[in-house]
Amino acid sequence: MKRQVELLVELQQIDSEKKRIETRKHDLPVELERLNTKLRDFEETVETERKKIEDLYERHQLKESDLKKGNETLKKTKSRLFEVKTNKEYQALLKEIEVINRRNDELESEIINILEAIDTVKEQLEQEEKEYAVFRSECQSDIKKIEEEINSIDSVLITIQKKYGDVKEFIHADHLRRYDIIKQKRNNRAVVPVWKGICGGCHMNIPPQMYNELQKYEELMLCPHCNRIIYWDNRDNGGS
Ligand SMILES: [Zn+2]
Repeated sequence: MKRQVELLVELQQIDSEKKRIETRKHDLPVELERLNTKLRDFEETVETERKKIEDLYERHQLKESDLKKGNETLKKTKSRLFEVKTNKEYQALLKEIEVINRRNDELESEIINILEAIDTVKEQLEQEEKEYAVFRSECQSDIKKIEEEINSIDSVLITIQKKYGDVKEFIHADHLRRYDIIKQKRNNRAVVPVWKGICGGCHMNIPPQMYNELQKYEELMLCPHCNRIIYWDNRDNGGS
């Protein structure tokens, strides 16, 4: 019986590993998608900042051309001062010049504001581009690792399944049936160690008499609380 218990323990180990790899197989594409989304979001943030600078440059050009026109108008209007005949016309023209001057002053201060904004956004963009470069290289190396794992995980699973089949062959059919039933009911854990009278599955005490019998390996025993297959985890001998 001891050999049978050992095989069941081994089967459980393989099963747990199989479950772990299957979960990993399911999680890997999710993780990959998460990283790609993060990378895209960051790229979009940088792109928005770039677009902001482009818009500012565009506005700058418009204002500069407005100012150029304004200065030309000013020049023309000023030249008309020598052509007017009456004082009334002269006064009206001076008013006109004042309005144009004020508009030009406004344009100049708007241009200064835009240039300052360009400097600020440029600085932000530079910082973000640096951060993005670091983030991207980290992200890409993570993505590469995940892709490699995705590519190899199926062959890992095949190896595990083969191992599972190999061990299964040596286990009695009724033990195996019991193992499968408990496994389904107990979240993939059918075989658990017992050490110092405590079940490793449900952490409850098993009766002392039962614990003594367990150490003799005479029959396949179940925890009276969680019904899992139990074995004596003899840690004094380096465990089993
Ligand atoms: Zn138990």
